[in-house]
Amino acid sequence: MPRIVYVNGEYLPYAQASVHVEDRGFQFADGVYEVIGCIHGHLADETGHLDRLERSLAELKMPMPVSRETLRFLMRECLRRNHLKNAGIYIQITRGAARRDFKFPDPNTTGQSLVIIASSFNFDGNAAVLHGVKVKTLEDIRWKRRDIKTVALLAQALAKQEAVEEGLGDAWMVDPQGFITEGSASNAWIITKDQTLLTRPVSHDILRGVTRTAIEKICAEKKIKIIERAFTVHEAYEAVEAFTSSATALITSVIEIDGHKIGEGKPGPITKEIYNEYRAYVDGLRGEQVHWEAGL
Ligand code: PLP
Repeated sequence: MPRIVYVNGEYLPYAQASVHVEDRGFQFADGVYEVIGCIHGHLADETGHLDRLERSLAELKMPMPVSRETLRFLMRECLRRNHLKNAGIYIQITRGAARRDFKFPDPNTTGQSLVIIASSFNFDGNAAVLHGVKVKTLEDIRWKRRDIKTVALLAQALAKQEAVEEGLGDAWMVDPQGFITEGSASNAWIITKDQTLLTRPVSHDILRGVTRTAIEKICAEKKIKIIERAFTVHEAYEAVEAFTSSATALITSVIEIDGHKIGEGKPGPITKEIYNEYRAYVDGLRGEQVHWEAGL
């Protein structure tokens, strides 16, 4: 059975799914994306991801190409046509295909591109979640609007590649002052000796994770203390637990940073508790999903 992809109004077999050579996403990274996990048939934090998608588009002065309701339908249709219950759903929206020119094309003559790809993902047997990952720190070389989820991901790809070439799971990026910004595709968290969670406050320096927002809700309910402040690489080495959060990695333990073992070098109890609570929340056992606000 061929994989089916949604591209600009059509459901196409994967091998035939493509966008134009002059698509502005290809030429200028002039586009945004979202990733939503479908876990056992539940779209995790769908509302929050669509909130953030609208905001990313607005920051780049682009409208939603279709209504929210239509997007919700298209995602489900991609899942249905691919017989998927566990998947990462990627929505990519660009300013469309136009003759190469830095200035924006006329929106009356150039339609946006909308692509939706659902890829199978095994959330239950994810080795990284079960055993944790080792990370390295490296310089954050990205642009200054990391709060927008654009398709310009080269700096993150380079960071991830460097980590993987060293046999590690991921990279944590560091600002010029020596504070961790975030993971290559995730938010970064540490837990201090006094059992407090630290994560970087929302600003243009990081992408405000939808999973991060859900974790805040869970921790408020479970009376787990969170302080939003930037933490240094050295503080991360001293942490008793550390983890990353994202739509597909969910809550993944970080067990080693630059060769420094974190805690006992395996997923710790607070990280596991937050992971289990998040899974219960996605299954609808913790009431309403949270909305996402830019908070900037
Ligand atoms: N930060 C970056 C740079 C990311 O790419 C991602 C997700 O892809 C996140 C944070 C986490 O965001 P979310 O929890 O909404 O997936």
